Amino acid sequence: MLEITTEPELRDAVRAARVRDERIGLVPTMGYLHAGHASLIEAAHRENDLVIVSIFVNPTQFGPAEDFGRYPRDLEHDRQVAGEAGAHIIFVPDESTMYPDGVEAQRVWVDPGPLADHLDGASRPDHFRAVATVVAKLFNLTGPDRAYFGQKDAQQLLVIKRMVRDLAYGIEIRAVQTVREEDGLALSSRNVYLDAEDRRRAVVLSSALGLAREEIATGERDARTVEQSMRSMIEREAPDARIDFITVADMDTLSPVTRTIERNAVIALAVYFGATRLIDNVMVRFSEGEPHFI
Ligand code: AMP
Repeated sequence: MLEITTEPELRDAVRAARVRDERIGLVPTMGYLHAGHASLIEAAHRENDLVIVSIFVNPTQFGPAEDFGRYPRDLEHDRQVAGEAGAHIIFVPDESTMYPDGVEAQRVWVDPGPLADHLDGASRPDHFRAVATVVAKLFNLTGPDRAYFGQKDAQQLLVIKRMVRDLAYGIEIRAVQTVREEDGLALSSRNVYLDAEDRRRAVVLSSALGLAREEIATGERDARTVEQSMRSMIEREAPDARIDFITVADMDTLSPVTRTIERNAVIALAVYFGATRLIDNVMVRFSEGEPHFI
């Protein structure tokens, strides 16, 4: 596995792969890799000749009160996880490679449009604009055939899909299912922040989504009822947690479903355990009136 830190080296490697007529798969990450990231890299490995994993903790997508400074980093471990999962190149740029004149000098941004107004976007202003912009840069640097994103970050996935369509990137966006701990907690680099008590309680996120699935599977269609059941469960099982949002959202627009769940939807939540904000979701697709869950 090759480790690349600069733009010229990366462009050379990409050009060489193109000369060999290789298909390129890109897996953008912020590092501190876990089995969720590994499953993206493995998918990229199955479907492409050259797999590039980028590792960059993008400062612009963190709000002023968020955890940029203390976001966990472990490059040695990342090398091992990426290599074992089948990466050929890890691209580890420093800030000046991604923002040549400095973060403050960035003038052109990708506006993700109304998809960014809801769910996480409502709590994290400018987050998705920064994500779309850095992913656009990574697409321009690596020119991939396919790029891999986790369903765990459902809104990010939809924003990137939309960006690719609206800006004619011609890149296939592949969604990979959320990898979970045995008890159901979605793997996340931020789980290391949790103390033992919060770690135990955090299982309530996937339990609440399981409850929503169960209710919808057995015929409940009122979005508010489903949201309220999830809220009650979280308040009961994790009384110290602070709910940021629990929303049944339309899968295409991400706007809240105010009444009946009858179209494809994403049920998403964000909950604080202390200062740690965790997110999770389940997607519901209807075919011939029957709900299917991903
Ligand atoms: P991050 O390093 O958190 O920016 O995540 C990089 C990519 O890995 C994103 O596309 C995430 O959606 C994806 N990812 C993060 N956690 C998981 C997980 N538990 N299962 C599957 N994909 C994940």
